[in-house]
Amino acid sequence: MIQRVCSGSLDGIDGFEVVVEVDAGRGLPSFQLVGLPSTAVRESRERVLSALRNCALAWPKGRVVVNLAPADVEKKGPSVDLAIAVGVCGVNERAEPGARGEAVLLGELSLDGALRPVRGLLAIVTAAAAAGRGLFVVPRGQAWEAALVPDVTVLAADSLADVVRWRAGRGDLERVAPRLPLPADREPPAALLAFLARAPARARRLAVLAAAGRHDLLLVGPPGSGKTQLSRVVGSLQPALGRAEALEVARIHGAAGLPSAQGLDLRRPFRAPHHTATRAGLLGGGASLRPGEITLAHRGILFLDELSEFSPGVLDALREPLEEGRVAVARGAGTRFWPADFQLLAATNPCRCGWHGSRRRECRCTERLRAAHRGRLSGPLLDRIDLFAELEEPEGPLHGAVPDDPRRLWERALAEAAAAHALLAGRSRARPASLVEARGLMEAPAAALLEAAGASLGLTVRSLVRCAGVARTLAALGGRTRANRDDVVEALSWRREQLAALD
Ligand SMILES: [Zn+2]
Repeated sequence: MIQRVCSGSLDGIDGFEVVVEVDAGRGLPSFQLVGLPSTAVRESRERVLSALRNCALAWPKGRVVVNLAPADVEKKGPSVDLAIAVGVCGVNERAEPGARGEAVLLGELSLDGALRPVRGLLAIVTAAAAAGRGLFVVPRGQAWEAALVPDVTVLAADSLADVVRWRAGRGDLERVAPRLPLPADREPPAALLAFLARAPARARRLAVLAAAGRHDLLLVGPPGSGKTQLSRVVGSLQPALGRAEALEVARIHGAAGLPSAQGLDLRRPFRAPHHTATRAGLLGGGASLRPGEITLAHRGILFLDELSEFSPGVLDALREPLEEGRVAVARGAGTRFWPADFQLLAATNPCRCGWHGSRRRECRCTERLRAAHRGRLSGPLLDRIDLFAELEEPEGPLHGAVPDDPRRLWERALAEAAAAHALLAGRSRARPASLVEARGLMEAPAAALLEAAGASLGLTVRSLVRCAGVARTLAALGGRTRANRDDVVEALSWRREQLAALD
């Protein structure tokens, strides 16, 4: 009797359902696997043979054919091992498996028949649940991950033998209850508190503003001026993820094979790729079809230190995701879009040697070298950044009393960012879509001021719209819904035209 067993596999960051069909018939003993299996799945054969033998389960006589449907999508990875093995065992059974036959079986087999975790389990279960499946059997160590998906029944299993017995109605598997989300850690590291205590008021204001509105930010300053710490402060001031957002992030990170925190993590991602990152590493895709850093930073922060050291081609490719909140990934003949709604926090030295404008050391770059350094950051990329700031090196360790208790500073900043975020009504970004929408966010005199300033500074429409978004966040920080003239003046003060280092 042909056995049909439901399973699933991963395609990029998305799961899809796979139906394993097993037939056994007359002929010389053989095992054939058809339906576009990848190399990893073709190796299933050896694992399945070994697992069956070690669990003392009988291999069917004659020719065994296993078909993986749909046949036009390549099945990657060993997530279908368990379903293949159970199907092979099932062809010996006379009885129909009943309701248990509808279960989706997921797991890699080790040679002794134990179940191993599957990369992208959450993505696979999410896709199968969306297609109407409700019952899942998964490896025990990972069962909590599958149980994050709403309205599904998840059973945990340890070995192939357990699953075969259960499916034939000769045993039970443990049902897994959903775990509570992990508490979002709101405790800043001591180093960040120390930085906050020493940072000038304007730097603290910047951190709160960037966190409240999720504004893209470029920090310019010599080594040791706290660019990285300020970015970390912005990250730790961000409000926690909502449940649905956290699930989406967990699904993406699981598909990339990142280690998980053993529960739903409500903290926003903070990704800091090195400047040698390749285009595929940053944007995703490539032969492995893995998500890039910008997709791993979805709903969180992408921190690019030494921005001017990144390849100009890679930086150019960031423009569209910055605007659209998603990235186009080439896939065979077509294109797919992956989420990439990240907040860009970038840092750069003011010049090649790093010390231009510093009080501590002298810059040794020629004017030409300085110009070349600035030229590495293209206008169109900078046009898409909301906030620009120069950081100065602190004047050395503070002597005597600390002016403010760092923890109080911290708590005040956190409360301000949270209140503003609530006023912005949980929009993922504070940026308006057009100039018309931007005008609607401001009091009339404020809008007039912004347009006049835009004309005299030669701002692009894109810059004006971004400026209006910043003004709105500033209004929210002041507890107002519409930006006034003061907000616009402050928003303009964070423009790159105000930065001497980028002149
Ligand atoms: Zn220099």
